Amino acid sequence: MEDSFRHKGLRHKMVENLRALGIASEEVLKVMDEVPRHLFLDSVFDTQAYLDKAFSIGEDQTISHPSTVALQSTLLEIFPGAKVLEVGTGSGYQAYVLEKLKAEVYSVERQKNLFLKTKALLAGFRSRIRCFYGDGYQGLPEYAPYDRIIVTCGAATLPPNLLPQLKIGGIMVIPLGSPKQIMTKIVRKTETEVEVSRHGDCHFVPMLPDRIGEKRHGA
Ligand code: SAH
Repeated sequence: MEDSFRHKGLRHKMVENLRALGIASEEVLKVMDEVPRHLFLDSVFDTQAYLDKAFSIGEDQTISHPSTVALQSTLLEIFPGAKVLEVGTGSGYQAYVLEKLKAEVYSVERQKNLFLKTKALLAGFRSRIRCFYGDGYQGLPEYAPYDRIIVTCGAATLPPNLLPQLKIGGIMVIPLGSPKQIMTKIVRKTETEVEVSRHGDCHFVPMLPDRIGEKRHGA
């Protein structure tokens, strides 16, 4: 699929809408103006890809709204070379936006089909994002510590293994609560202290435990 002038025009409009919604990071707005969101979606959503909507990406999961991606990316305060853990690869769109912000991204997905599909898609973009099939509730201790952690599924409470994988001075952005969540930014100040701020209501698909394998056929 191509990235036509029409797609680019729709993307500019999306970015102007994000600006109107209060997204202030010029770096984030610039990257979201460049990344072809429609290529992360099923082609049936082609013409709608730049609306501020979540769409199905299969396996009962959804790609996050552009405004949510913009908010999380802004709250993360990415710097070039930042080592970032993402929990919930999904379509790969959020991870790719972070990579375009010059982060080094490690992303974990629990759904095998999505993991495989998105890994292949990202490889087609010559992305260097490292995709893992696993339970992100546990984080990804093999590559810890991280400068930043972003969780893109809703957690009822803070998963206990994530904070220890964040560097001192690092930032985690995570939707916390159930059934609705509040976008929460946690700055790890010292070994034992954190600073917490809240950034509005949001609604994510739930963080679920364990890995799940290939889709069962039939039934
Ligand atoms: N960042 C994604 C958002 C996808 S929706 C995007 O840009 O498209 C959230 C994703 O989190 C889903 O794909 C879901 O399968 C995944 N998920 C839920 N619980 C998880 C867990 N414990 N570990 C890893 N991924 C999880």
